[in-house]
Amino acid sequence: MDRTSRIRIGTHDDMKFRHHRAPYYRALQWKPVEMDELIKPAVQVFLTQQAFIRICAHAGSDLHNEVGGWLAGKAYLDNQTGKPFIVINTVLPAEFTEHGSAFLTFTQDSQVRMHATLTDDYPDLRLLGWFHTHPKMGVFFSEWDRWLHENFFPEPWQVGLVIEPYSAAAGFFQKQVNGKLDTRCYFGFNELYHRRRRSIVHWRNLVPVENIQEE
Ligand SMILES: [Zn+2]
Repeated sequence: MDRTSRIRIGTHDDMKFRHHRAPYYRALQWKPVEMDELIKPAVQVFLTQQAFIRICAHAGSDLHNEVGGWLAGKAYLDNQTGKPFIVINTVLPAEFTEHGSAFLTFTQDSQVRMHATLTDDYPDLRLLGWFHTHPKMGVFFSEWDRWLHENFFPEPWQVGLVIEPYSAAAGFFQKQVNGKLDTRCYFGFNELYHRRRRSIVHWRNLVPVENIQEE
């Protein structure tokens, strides 16, 4: 089978949003310590604790080079507010990534493999974005990151997570409601509890928000 035919990298919005209640009731919201409350993300991000653990394991697997992969899950419209949200259920580490100390690129092979894995193992999940590390560099989007994001993940519901494994910091880069993608402004997320309401997030640049009101 020609697997290259499976490559379909978000260049058209065929998204069918399911309606669902946003699971704020079993989540803990994390936001950057210094956050401009006027800046609103285009989509609310929910990250399962299982996905968080897998991200941290992969992010810590190489502390000298950038590593990364893809975020997969589902996208919904909140049936109470009508606003979009995504639930990141799993991550697919990029196995054939050409990487170095300050760059990362997804090779054709790794993209083919990722799309095959999504189709074969997670047929009900879709590609929600990507993640990568910035060892000792901080949490930001480089110009290359922006180029990659805008070309491969152009939809407002697709996000890019940057992790700094040394200082245990991270943030989501994503389009704002006005369509702008700010390479210096990142957002937090909602930690989706697995069973017990006990947080496992340890990223130090984020703080928990108590008693979040659904907007
Ligand atoms: Zn980067």
